[in-house]
Amino acid sequence: MTFRTAAIALAIGVSWTAMGAAGAMAETVGISMPTKSSARWIADGENMVRQFEEAGYDTDLQYAEDDIPNQLAQVENMITKGVDVLVIAAIDGTTLSNALANAKAADIKVIAYDRLIRDTGDIDYYATFDNFKVGVEQANSLVAGLEERFPDDKPWNVELFGGSPDDNNAYFFYDGAMSVLQPLIEAGDIVIPSGQSGMQTVGTLRWDGAVAQARMDNLLSANYTDTDVHGVLSPYDGLSIGILSSLKGVGYGSGDQAMPIVTGQDAEVQSVKSILAGEQYSTVFKDTRELARVTVGMVDALLKGGEPEINDTETYDNGVKVVPSYLLEPVGVDGSNWEQVLVESRYYSADQIR
Ligand code: BGC
Repeated sequence: MTFRTAAIALAIGVSWTAMGAAGAMAETVGISMPTKSSARWIADGENMVRQFEEAGYDTDLQYAEDDIPNQLAQVENMITKGVDVLVIAAIDGTTLSNALANAKAADIKVIAYDRLIRDTGDIDYYATFDNFKVGVEQANSLVAGLEERFPDDKPWNVELFGGSPDDNNAYFFYDGAMSVLQPLIEAGDIVIPSGQSGMQTVGTLRWDGAVAQARMDNLLSANYTDTDVHGVLSPYDGLSIGILSSLKGVGYGSGDQAMPIVTGQDAEVQSVKSILAGEQYSTVFKDTRELARVTVGMVDALLKGGEPEINDTETYDNGVKVVPSYLLEPVGVDGSNWEQVLVESRYYSADQIR
């Protein structure tokens, strides 16, 4: 920055950090995250801010506390303020079409972050994990756990939970899991005593752990007075915590009542601790540092005309177009590999977990 541009910047109230090395204004990335109630989204926000700033961008990070009108207002505000790019993890993937039409009109590029934004042509890229594979991992781990803990109890009694029906990912997780479980149900190795299946029935609005806990309470009192539940498919650590509370409340995990196999997702600290304590059986780790890296790369390509990193052009049809995507690999985590996956990669320190 020359003395003159610096002086102008000061005169018009622009911060020094907003000036790029060449004296140009740094471009601004508006980052809209769904909620701070889950640690993963906090990590996503922090990783993106750090990596965008390292790459020379300014950031405007907002959390919407799982309130749809709140997220809409935050996104609209970013558009009005004139951000150059929007990176959005939507609460409800279908509610942003009008706002994104305004973004398009203002030539603001849009990246769907982790969750697909549906029903609009006005998004450019999608950065996410292989969401179907997340569900496959969860179900594989559920079955491995059932074999290990309940080898003599076939057919196993299993209950199913799904994620939020307004989150496109929830269907991919569920379908991935059912690709493993359905053949076992048909073979008679797994039964669902409640008879409840299908996202319409087992979905959990807003990924709310209290809702999952209440549903598990009902499932137990209606179906398990004279038999035991052996496994619960849970798509997210925050739901698993509620499900485990319900199970513990009626005596599972103490005396001779073995804890059912309960899955999860996100490798949140509390759930990794629960795995070490022998309660939750497994989770799925999705490295938010990597997702931030891919997203920064996409933004760079959009603004500077490079080639974005894409590895999927078929899977994510949002109702208007197939959105070019980059899918990262999820990693299953249980008592046998948590240290290697989570600590050796420096995602967590050993102290955070122990
Ligand atoms: C994310 C999961 C997360 C869930 C609840 C999904 O869209 O992909 O990682 O567990 O939302 O926050």
